Amino acid sequence: MKFQSTRDQNAAKYSAAQVIKQGLAADGGLFVPESIPTLTFEEIEALRSADYPTRAAGILGKFLSDYTEEELLADCRAAYAETSFVGGAAPLVALDDTIHSLELWHGPTAAFKDMALQIMPRLLSRALVKTGEERTALILVATSGDTGKAALEGYKDIDRIKIAVFYPVDGVSRVQKLQMQTQTGDNVYVCAINGNFDDAQTGVKKIFSDKNAVSYLNDKGYFFSSANSINWGRLAPQIVYYVSAYCDLLNKGTLKMGEKMNVTVPTGNFGNILAAYIAKLMGLPIDRLVCASNQNNVLTDFFNTGTYDRNRTFHLTMSPSMDILISSNLERLIYFVAGAERTTKYMESLNKTGAYTVDADVKAKIDESFCGFFTDEAKTADTIRRTMERCGYLADTHTAVALSAAEQYIAQTGDRKPMVVASTASPYKFANDVYRSLYGETPSDPLAALDELSARTSTEIPYPLRGIGERKVRFTDVVPSADMWKAVQKYLG
Ligand SMILES: *Cc1c(COP(=O)(O)O)cnc(C)c1O
Repeated sequence: MKFQSTRDQNAAKYSAAQVIKQGLAADGGLFVPESIPTLTFEEIEALRSADYPTRAAGILGKFLSDYTEEELLADCRAAYAETSFVGGAAPLVALDDTIHSLELWHGPTAAFKDMALQIMPRLLSRALVKTGEERTALILVATSGDTGKAALEGYKDIDRIKIAVFYPVDGVSRVQKLQMQTQTGDNVYVCAINGNFDDAQTGVKKIFSDKNAVSYLNDKGYFFSSANSINWGRLAPQIVYYVSAYCDLLNKGTLKMGEKMNVTVPTGNFGNILAAYIAKLMGLPIDRLVCASNQNNVLTDFFNTGTYDRNRTFHLTMSPSMDILISSNLERLIYFVAGAERTTKYMESLNKTGAYTVDADVKAKIDESFCGFFTDEAKTADTIRRTMERCGYLADTHTAVALSAAEQYIAQTGDRKPMVVASTASPYKFANDVYRSLYGETPSDPLAALDELSARTSTEIPYPLRGIGERKVRFTDVVPSADMWKAVQKYLG
């Protein structure tokens, strides 16, 4: 299996190891597999009785053909061990007759980013060896809160890798900020920027493509790599849990082989839902993909109209990991549907004017799989409260946005196929807002909210968040977004 750039009409090929090492293609496009491997019903049948690491190694092997089966199985066993994912890697919980919550937050940082970022550092380590790389990888991460912490946990103290994380100073929750500021490890750096997530992401992209920065690093024995969901190494592990959810629905007797499920995903950078789409292209029986947005509803408008327009007000919401106006991975969907030539044209327009409109045939093709719904702040809070009342289920703010979108879809269409809703964070990561949504008042202190939420709902604080207030703060730098490169240089010394 080889990979190519979404913008390269000549389709130059790269190995999986090269792609994981490099992150972004040199022409500014994203790496995609040259063809989509198939997943047969026989293969799904075989995965039904397998544990999560075995399911993961099986799916990853279809994309990472330059890694051996033994390597992948060993890495998956280490990444998804019971000690890191307490209670299982991706359990499926039925909320009612139709909706199932796919809980992706049982890992070491209590958000779904762990599903990819526990395995990706292991894949990158092997990629350095496979490609004969002698330099140290410098991972630069822009985060809306969850990726940063998950990447720090995944990459900490890994040989020949350093990591620097940038987050918007006012764009993450108190718990998220503390999780990053208290990060341990000798190869990590964390810095806040004055700006929003898009500023941080644009800053990282700028550094990546700055020739002077690249040669400065090279002289010092480093090269840039990325842990954002623009890296294929992030996406491939996310395909696994949709296959796993389907296996679990078969095992519960909810579905028979070949019958279809629907999927709703709370979406920001479009990585998680794109992984579900790739699972569908591979042959996993998925019918509709419901893209859920918060008030930053650029994607809802795109699916309704075919026009992507980022020229709009940016809202800070209580689902901060979805506060994004440039959903980078949408480029991969456009590529799969429209090809490299038109992708290049649309992305040039996005760069120049902040907007593009896809051709009618592209829109029609996208409509076959996708639809979009959004949820404002009041409705998100209401969904958290209603879900607790109706199902006794405690949902975080992001999951609530998705639950609301799933409900809107079901009400509009009457489609009662099993609906798998990606639950992307522990409610305790956003305890303050969850608490306020449930009880209409804010606890005295954002950290006290964890204990109070636990007491009032009789649920447990997940292990990564216990005692978070008592850990030592190591990182307090705040810089203008224009000075991110300076901060990196200072870190490297
Ligand atoms: C990152 C994140 C999302 C958005 O996922 P994308 O792959 O960027 O679309 C949703 N919810 C939570 C909790 C997240 O951390």
